[in-house]
Amino acid sequence: MKQTQTSSDSKILLTDSRFLSQPGKTVFVAIEGERHNGHDFIEDLISKGVSEFIVSKKWAEQHQSLLPLATFTIAENTTRALQKMARKHRETFEVPVVGITGSNGKTIVKEWLSSILQSTLSVIKSPRSYNSQIGVPLSVWQMSPEHEVAIFEAGISQPAEMQALSEIIQPEIGLFTNIGSAHNEGFRSQKQKITEKLRLFRKAKTLIYSIDYPELDEEIRIFLKAVNPKVELIPWSKNQKGSITVDVEKKDKFTNLRVYWKGDEFDLHIPFVDDASIENCIHCFFAAYLVLKKTQAEREIPQLIQNGFDTLKPVAMRLELKEGINNCYLIDDSYNNDFGGLEMALNFMNQHHINRRKCIILSDVLQSGLPEKELYKKINDLLEGADIQQIIGIGPIISRNKGAFEEIDTYLNVEEFLKKHPLQQFANQLILVKGARNFAFEKIVNALTHKVHGTALEVNLDAITHNLNYYRGKIADKTKLMVMVKASAYGSGSTEVASLLQYHRVDYLAVAYTDEGVELRENGIELPIMVLNPQPESFKKLVTYALEPEIYSLQILKSFIRFLDFEKPENISVKIHLKIDTGMKRLGFIEEDLPELLKLLKENPTLKVGSIFSHLAASDSKKEREFTKSQISSFSSIATKIQAELVEKPIRHILNTAGIVNYPEAQFEMVRLGIGLYGVDSSEIHQRELETTATLKTTISQIKKAKAGETIGYGRVGKATNDMTLATIAIGYADGFDRKMSNGKGFVYLQGHRCPTIGNVCMDMTMIDITGITAEVGDQVEIFGKNISIFELAEQLETIPYEILTKVGSRVKRVFFKE
Ligand SMILES: *Cc1c(COP(=O)(O)O)cnc(C)c1O
Repeated sequence: MKQTQTSSDSKILLTDSRFLSQPGKTVFVAIEGERHNGHDFIEDLISKGVSEFIVSKKWAEQHQSLLPLATFTIAENTTRALQKMARKHRETFEVPVVGITGSNGKTIVKEWLSSILQSTLSVIKSPRSYNSQIGVPLSVWQMSPEHEVAIFEAGISQPAEMQALSEIIQPEIGLFTNIGSAHNEGFRSQKQKITEKLRLFRKAKTLIYSIDYPELDEEIRIFLKAVNPKVELIPWSKNQKGSITVDVEKKDKFTNLRVYWKGDEFDLHIPFVDDASIENCIHCFFAAYLVLKKTQAEREIPQLIQNGFDTLKPVAMRLELKEGINNCYLIDDSYNNDFGGLEMALNFMNQHHINRRKCIILSDVLQSGLPEKELYKKINDLLEGADIQQIIGIGPIISRNKGAFEEIDTYLNVEEFLKKHPLQQFANQLILVKGARNFAFEKIVNALTHKVHGTALEVNLDAITHNLNYYRGKIADKTKLMVMVKASAYGSGSTEVASLLQYHRVDYLAVAYTDEGVELRENGIELPIMVLNPQPESFKKLVTYALEPEIYSLQILKSFIRFLDFEKPENISVKIHLKIDTGMKRLGFIEEDLPELLKLLKENPTLKVGSIFSHLAASDSKKEREFTKSQISSFSSIATKIQAELVEKPIRHILNTAGIVNYPEAQFEMVRLGIGLYGVDSSEIHQRELETTATLKTTISQIKKAKAGETIGYGRVGKATNDMTLATIAIGYADGFDRKMSNGKGFVYLQGHRCPTIGNVCMDMTMIDITGITAEVGDQVEIFGKNISIFELAEQLETIPYEILTKVGSRVKRVFFKE
């Protein structure tokens, strides 16, 4: 997500070619990343109309012939060149800039703080979590004269990174959220990590932090005070330490805060009860106060901040992708709606369902500081660039700026839209619903999505990306990566996961059956796709959709050759993948097949062998190391024999997820990632480093009392031992909640408690014991996820995590989200 834009007439800086929207205004900065090199996309961008580039000297020397085609600025290091542009841009502004760093909560604090300030000031902030060496300069580049305050976050993963970010952000007000142990790898010690982060505040005037993190407090007093002696500290504590203290009184659904500061007391109430949100709100209070003090009368500030807190809802700030009515897909992003957020959502939209008609339902865009006309003109340009075919505007301001759009339907509010716009007109589209919270767009989302029952499998796309990068870090740069998306991407949803993988440019996908591959192709997936189990009846589709079969026996090879002879597809060469059985005894050629196999391949030159591969039977087992090594060596020897006979040398692969971590020496030219992507390390050594990707949730349909002695459910198997409270939840064995979980063998997670099942699990429903818990109809219940791991569930059911994931019923809605 690397595109930013300043006011309407200035340049868009682009570092990710996938987000090109307005070629005429774009300057492309070619960055050499760990995995991808921006220079590789220059020719393509020239052909799309981009005419300005910042490139490396090395590239320019090797591509002299392209230089006359556009304007090239040549730099020793393009990242530094980008940072320098941002630094210079920053220096032209004098508005207060808040810089945020810390281990957790940076993005939330930034979002909430801007939400609080937005009703008074025109705010510019980093889009989502743009906090890296590239993200920060792109964020700062967005500052323009209409902004009255800027909020940027900075994140680092290695020593010596903060210096550059500090010079670009130049924060006046600093905020250090907290310090945790995450991402420690790059640093020698906790202390080193803290001092490095503190460099952001070398020249800050004020720094807000909590002394409840003693190591942080110590480094600030020793290190920061030495480099920045004039910095004014705002060290607050919830534990009655020091001079600025905050009393915290938690109620059922909200929390009261009393802040003792500067001889004053400030009373606030916030709509959260968890510790992390409370900490974030306290940080926001101090930061908002310091910013507002510059323009507002001090006595009015507490109320302004309270008004801001009142609008923060305890909803996840996330963007969701879900199935809608009439075969539509819906992207639900109704947390906020400023220009940067709109751009982000459009970028996300362009990663998905590439060949669906795109529609946006958009509310008034908040607080840009630009004159209305100019803002909506700019939005129109943005939507055109993003290839949006239908625009629906909701709100008084967008309605009166209808003229800025070529074509738009407008409505004053959500009610009018729902009454007058025939929802049945939406079909086979990808619809982005983007509205600021006060527009209550959730009503639109509800009307446009299927509501079968309250059960959903929530898939965290950020966690999938995290896991993907984790395994990418385990393989050599030149090793290719195939990702297994068979069985609906292990139950998660194949199109969405494949779109994400395509966006992250993996090399190959693999599915079990031809139809799974066809579905991916029909949804715009263009990556090479291997089909593990091609059935002869599906050969025609296979070839039509450019899918690549696994060929595992002489018999299937012959029938494929007969099919090709008969069909004679014109001048196409069909790619196949040869599977070798090295000990799994499932599918695959054995050594004795080789002479005939090689003869057939030579006789049929239209068949191209894309790869040779085998599968390990016990790559996750320590005791089977000898066996696994023998599989690897026999694979290597057979592959060498085949390679020797072919003109083009096919690539080789044998490692699955557990193989990647246990046998890194056997990567050959490609590896096949499966379960690890979905957050499960079968060897359990790396489990801590992976993120949970899937959460199965349902809701309470009814709450009941049972008296001691009464029975519950089918067969009267469940018995109330005492008077108890029961909840009926909307999930049963048809959804994948195993019937073996009946009668207290299984439990679910509700508001911090594990509630046992009672009675038999039914087809669509289950009763649970919630005695002593205050719950309501509609409350969410977790079946598995962060609180009940699929490992735990697998153990209880005497199976493996693979089965837990893939057994979630097909009628369960899949909801994909991004933080
Ligand atoms: C499923 C599968 C994989 C992936 O295995 P994981 O254990 O999930 O990593 C790799 N190769 C083949 C042939 C498979 O069928």
